[in-house]
Amino acid sequence: MTTFEHTTLPQRVLFGTGRAAQNLAAEVDRLGARAVMVIAGPTEQPIAQTVTERITVALRYDDVAPHVPIAKAEKARAAATEHGIDLLVCIGGGSTTGLAKAIALTTGLPIVAVPTTYAGSEATNVWGLTEDSRKSTGVDDRVLPVTVVYDADLTSSLPADLSVASGLNALAHSIDSMWAPRADPINQALAAEAIRTLNAGLPAVKADPDDIAGREDCLYGAYLSAVAFASAGSGMHHKICHVLGGAYNLPHAQTHAVVLPYVLAFLAPAAPAAEARIAAAFGTAHALDGLNTLRARLDAPTALADHGLTEDNIPEAVALILPFIPDTTPRQVTPGNLEVLLRAAWAGTQPSSEGFLS
Ligand code: NAD
Repeated sequence: MTTFEHTTLPQRVLFGTGRAAQNLAAEVDRLGARAVMVIAGPTEQPIAQTVTERITVALRYDDVAPHVPIAKAEKARAAATEHGIDLLVCIGGGSTTGLAKAIALTTGLPIVAVPTTYAGSEATNVWGLTEDSRKSTGVDDRVLPVTVVYDADLTSSLPADLSVASGLNALAHSIDSMWAPRADPINQALAAEAIRTLNAGLPAVKADPDDIAGREDCLYGAYLSAVAFASAGSGMHHKICHVLGGAYNLPHAQTHAVVLPYVLAFLAPAAPAAEARIAAAFGTAHALDGLNTLRARLDAPTALADHGLTEDNIPEAVALILPFIPDTTPRQVTPGNLEVLLRAAWAGTQPSSEGFLS
């Protein structure tokens, strides 16, 4: 018998290459906004200028920083209030979307998101804030953008290495959704389609960063991944990355890119149905072969040692991560097998299901 409880988040999606400016103007009109605050980081300003050329902007705001420091969130909230803002438009990567979410969290202002990376934050109701080097996250429907405007042209300026890391971050959302706490047939179907699409788009973008069809695949795959992730919740992979990123200040996308194959190698033998779906999405006999092949084609980051984790950190990291591993994880996680996993990810040894302690 199949039994599940699924919630689909309400959100409008406008997808069209070369159409961001007109789609944004139509949304601002439809929402009846009179005072729009446009949020975009310094490097995202040229994109934001083009995208907003058909709307009237009350406030342009560029004080964006990674992981949304609380002081920056409070400053941005005050600016929104001072200017009588009634609509937030964020144009940029996950950090920019994150600042818009932080404003929406306390003000209830609606957001129209125009993403320029594959992070996927625009399709989730998850917020994150950092205070005293500690990142806290939460779920609140007020931070879910009412509309997402996708335009593959806006991602063309994302360099190939950042595109790869960001795309593998999206892939981590979909693969981890397969065994996350609220995994169900609906979010697994979205995740499988996301894996198939990213597996096609990412090598195309790596080979030619101007390949717009490949960019569209990546953007569509990133959206599906984020919807699956928002619905299924954080699985073992995201818990590991969240703790490592917070405790050792590791870069977000690269940490996901490195850790993912080791979690897949560890969990695949204990989750045969999920493994088979991931393999089918990759078009390979085994899920791990599909992921390893994709990572080789992308020349993906391979070792946490290259991104700031030291070998001495590993025992402490094991102790920090263990309490966060979801009870629903299909394989029992022990200090022993988690240490084997982290040591392999630190050194960048070829990910394999062999060698984990029981
Ligand atoms: P980011 O937003 O920090 O962007 C990385 C860099 O790329 C920045 O310097 C940015 O200015 C630049 N950039 C963005 N788009 C560009 C483009 N088209 N061309 C050239 N440069 C561009 O990084 P990210 O990976 O997009 O997002 C990571 C953040 O998002 C993390 O803080 C993460 O926790 C958060 N996130 C949140 C959720 C959620 O559901 N709340 C989901 C995924 C990620």
